[in-house]
Amino acid sequence: MLKLDNKKLLHIIRYAPVIVVTLFAIAVNIIAIEDNQSMAQYSIENLRAELLNTQREKIREQVRYVIRKVRTERFLSEAKLKDHAKQRVYEAYHVAHYIYNSNQGKPKAEIVHLITDALRPLHFFNERGYFFIFTQQGISVMNGLRPELEGTSILDLQDSRGTYFIRNFIKKFEHSQEGFYQWWFQKPGQSNQQDFQKIGFAKTFEPYHWYIGTGEYVTAFENALKKEILEWISEYEYGEGGYFFIIDKQGTLLAHHYNDFLGPELTVGKKIDDSLRQQILAQVRNGGGYIRYQKPLTVDGKISLEQVSYVTEIKGWDWIVGTGFYSQVYEKYLSSQAHQLSQYKKQSLAKLSTLGIVSILLLIVVSLYVSHLIARRFNTFQQRIVDDVNELENSKDKMEFMALHDALTGLPNRLSLQKKIQESINLSKKHGTHAAIMFVDLDDFKHINDLHGHATGDQLLCSISRQFESVLEETDLVARFGGDEFIFCCADLQGTDEAREKAEIIRRLFDEQFVIGGKILSVGCSIGISMYPDDSDDPAALIRKADIVLYHSKAIKKGQILFYDQHINEQVQLDLNIHHELQRALINQEFSVCYQPQIEANRHRLVSVEALIRWNNPRLGNVPPAKFIETAEETGLIHDIGLFVFRRACEEIYRLSPNGHNAVQLSVNVSPTQLVTPHFPEQLAEICSEIGIHTHRITLEITENILINKLETAIPILNQLRVHGFGISLDDFGTGYSSLSYINNLPLTEIKIDRCFIDRMLNNQQSNMLVKMIIGIGKFSGMTVVAEGVETQEQYEQLIEYHCDLVQGFYFDRPLTFEQLTHRYKNYYSAYVNNFPYSY
Ligand code: C2E
Ligand code: CA
Ligand code: CA
Repeated sequence: MLKLDNKKLLHIIRYAPVIVVTLFAIAVNIIAIEDNQSMAQYSIENLRAELLNTQREKIREQVRYVIRKVRTERFLSEAKLKDHAKQRVYEAYHVAHYIYNSNQGKPKAEIVHLITDALRPLHFFNERGYFFIFTQQGISVMNGLRPELEGTSILDLQDSRGTYFIRNFIKKFEHSQEGFYQWWFQKPGQSNQQDFQKIGFAKTFEPYHWYIGTGEYVTAFENALKKEILEWISEYEYGEGGYFFIIDKQGTLLAHHYNDFLGPELTVGKKIDDSLRQQILAQVRNGGGYIRYQKPLTVDGKISLEQVSYVTEIKGWDWIVGTGFYSQVYEKYLSSQAHQLSQYKKQSLAKLSTLGIVSILLLIVVSLYVSHLIARRFNTFQQRIVDDVNELENSKDKMEFMALHDALTGLPNRLSLQKKIQESINLSKKHGTHAAIMFVDLDDFKHINDLHGHATGDQLLCSISRQFESVLEETDLVARFGGDEFIFCCADLQGTDEAREKAEIIRRLFDEQFVIGGKILSVGCSIGISMYPDDSDDPAALIRKADIVLYHSKAIKKGQILFYDQHINEQVQLDLNIHHELQRALINQEFSVCYQPQIEANRHRLVSVEALIRWNNPRLGNVPPAKFIETAEETGLIHDIGLFVFRRACEEIYRLSPNGHNAVQLSVNVSPTQLVTPHFPEQLAEICSEIGIHTHRITLEITENILINKLETAIPILNQLRVHGFGISLDDFGTGYSSLSYINNLPLTEIKIDRCFIDRMLNNQQSNMLVKMIIGIGKFSGMTVVAEGVETQEQYEQLIEYHCDLVQGFYFDRPLTFEQLTHRYKNYYSAYVNNFPYSY
């Protein structure tokens, strides 16, 4: 398919309609002009046909007119004839009546004679007319034409067609006084057999019951009429050269209107051409019709005209009347019309062409304008689409930026980090240099949030971010990894020394204090560093390793810069494993409790045991509490773990030694997070009551350093525990700063001198003095004093000397399993007294 770019499309939109409209307009105009021409041609043909038709119609009408006129004239002449006959009979009647009236008294025969004599000689109608009288019985009284009939019966007279016309007459007049009648008669003195119609009128002459009548040959009248009509035809002219002719069936010309134009070729009395006569007769037989023929203009027939004629018969007269026209006449008219038409055609073509050109131009202008509008609209839409696309691109860019940058600080976020590290690695690889991934974590940032609020914390992070950016070199980048963690990625380094220098620069940024919203804030950072290519060439691995170092560095001491190495890795790995394994240790029943006996120093008697947790993990083996207790505290698992130890220890010790005067005492370590758990005292008391062990047999060991921050919270809890009957021991006494002050402030029942003092006691005078003093103070305050970590007899003896209450340590027993303890307790209960030290 043809590929259209926007520009081409725009061109098409702009010009295609114009071209299409122009072509269309031209086509329409050509069709209109052609149509107009063919219309003109058509109209000439039409005109010819119409003219011919009109002419034909006209001549037929003219002939009909003549026929009508002849018919009217004939009717009128017959009426005139009848009227004449009637007049004459009335005159005869009056004559007869006059004679009759004036001769009254005379004999009838005389009167009759007088009448017949008077009427007989009367002739009229050019002497053809006469009167006759006959009686109602059919006896002829008088006959002006045939006197021999007088006195005879004429009833049997027949006319030339055999009709008894006298009888018919008498019958017809039975009921009327007068009337017309007709009959046919041969003219007297004529030899041919032709009969002629006669019309008569008769009137009853009442005195003698006669009929007085007369008759006349119709032909006689008609001849006169014919003569008149022929004369009229000869004169008659209509339209332009319209004429009539009359011929008889034999072809003799009877009448014709001559004019100069038609010439003298035909004269009345001459016969027309026989073939023409045959043609005429054929039409006449059909009731009338048209004929075409060449009419010679000269006598020799050299010049002729085509004539069209309509011919029809005048019935009863044996005449044929016709009229015609010369086609040349209307052809002439037609050619003049055609000329006019062609003139008109030329004019209209010119007009049409002008109109066409104007309409084309107009259409072009209009469609150009419309195309322009469309193209402009198209342009606008296109621009809008481009704008929209740009906007989309922009928002896409924005979204991309948002997705890849940290909203708060505007630094790249951890998503984009990996890609950037990869770029740094690629660059370093190309140059054969090193790259450093520096994990920077702010120290105690949580305190700043807690103390000054999150808004300040956020502002501080932004401020720090700007500081970080200020130390970046071209091949460096910094990203916010999350919370108060940042990662620097420095490419193109010569080695770890350069990396360390860079890290130092970063750390030194924190030597200055930050001023946020008028507050002066101090904050530090720890940095863990991993190196490409030494530690990995994978960005994710490098981040992870830097994180491991950081974690370790923070665990040891905050504010350090540490590089990743295998040892750190293993340690951290173990930590991570512990962290991981600890999650399911309780459920998997990997924990157990050991018991380390506490001996009454002066009596060498086992009076108490300290419960110590043991964790045997299938993968990690025996993990010492020092390794996992902190993790358990951090994860919150210490709550459940602590309760497990407490319950298990109570159960087992209760089993070993029921409540009573010499019942074995139990010490359980309690972590500070456990202590502040809501309802902790109640929980412990409930467990004790469930098991049945007296709370006063139990001492809870807490470490002093833990109490520093939570003294206010801890005191009421400790008091509550005291109320429930539990003893409270201050573990690791002497390691903290304010150990002595606690003695007065806390509801303690026991202090446990830390192992390190016992350890050094015999070699270090200061430690020795401290142990002696602590024992003194404790006893003075009414508390039990316990020495832990007693490993030698000398230590033990010294402690006895100082009146230490209880001693605990490897010298007596290592932490024992419950079975070992049971065995120990049952068999060697008194051994401490007499046979000390017991050896395994
Ligand atoms: P701690 O409370 O000071 O426990 C005494 C630790 O000293 C025990 O170590 C014990 O085995 C060890 N020890 C006892 N006698 C001697 C000795 O003569 N020489 C030496 N070098 N060490 C001796 P362990 O069992 O490894 O416990 C370590 C720490 O773990 C405990 O210190 C305690 O703080 C914590 N811990 C142990 N069990 C629990 C527990 O159930 N809950 C809590 N919260 N902490 C516990
Ligand atoms: Ca302890
Ligand atoms: Ca201790």
